[in-house]
Amino acid sequence: ETQQVLQCEVTPFGAGDRLVFVRDITKMARLEQMRRDFVGNVSHELRTPLTVIKGYLDTILANSDQLDRRFVRPLQQMEQQAGRMENLLKDLLWLSRIESVRSQDKYEMVDMVALLEELADELQTSHPGRRLEIQLETRDRIKGDYRELHSAISNLVLNAFKYSDDDSLVTVSWRRRGEHCLLSVQDRGIGIAENHIPRITERFYRVDDSRSSQTGGTGLGLAIVKHVAAAHRAELSVDSKPGVGSTFSLAFPASGMESRPDSRRSA
Ligand code: ADP
Repeated sequence: ETQQVLQCEVTPFGAGDRLVFVRDITKMARLEQMRRDFVGNVSHELRTPLTVIKGYLDTILANSDQLDRRFVRPLQQMEQQAGRMENLLKDLLWLSRIESVRSQDKYEMVDMVALLEELADELQTSHPGRRLEIQLETRDRIKGDYRELHSAISNLVLNAFKYSDDDSLVTVSWRRRGEHCLLSVQDRGIGIAENHIPRITERFYRVDDSRSSQTGGTGLGLAIVKHVAAAHRAELSVDSKPGVGSTFSLAFPASGMESRPDSRRSA
């Protein structure tokens, strides 16, 4: 409870010496924890009433032939918005969870090949007809949390789908690059203008609000990706050109597990 939180910074100083700065950030850490708990609790509390509302709307709409015709459209819109709210709360809860749980101790060796194959299967079901190509150039495993990695990569691919045409190809690749393992998600979609790139991982930041609300995003996807990356000591980078497409990459420190090259798979 009253644990002290210290932040250390070591910088080279003079010939072979080091300067160590120690800062007491206990108060800040506690406030930050309160903020996370608050967001987590509110999301949790809002979920139950929303489930009831959405459940009734679903039931009513399932019998829409018995409804006054004037009510059908408004009810459909209510149901759609309730669905959006449900997704939002789900993402908020998940974000507050991955922000507060320092799960590194529970990390295991994650088989990225298996994860990507599972993800491809899921996406084939949820987004039939979308063209997704998976390039597996290494079988390297990395140390991490399977669920967190799955959600981060899934968010990247869903964004790639959202911000490109329905018949456009999305490529996910898993490669070894020196001391790093690189996961990239490439789309050939609308791209992102350079001035927006530094801000897209902020919660609720959107390049184009009207388009984003149409596509049904929560504005939290990349915030989740950023947190998962940080927890896994991976670097997130974005390479994008408006009208050409975007590539999001996560560079993980290689775990030292052996790599065996070349197997490919398309979904
Ligand atoms: P959203 O739910 O709005 O997609 P995200 O946090 O996932 O929220 O993304 C933030 C914003 O970054 C999006 O609203 C969109 O403007 C932009 N963006 C993210 N991924 C892509 C992409 N693959 N192509 C183009 N724009 C993207």
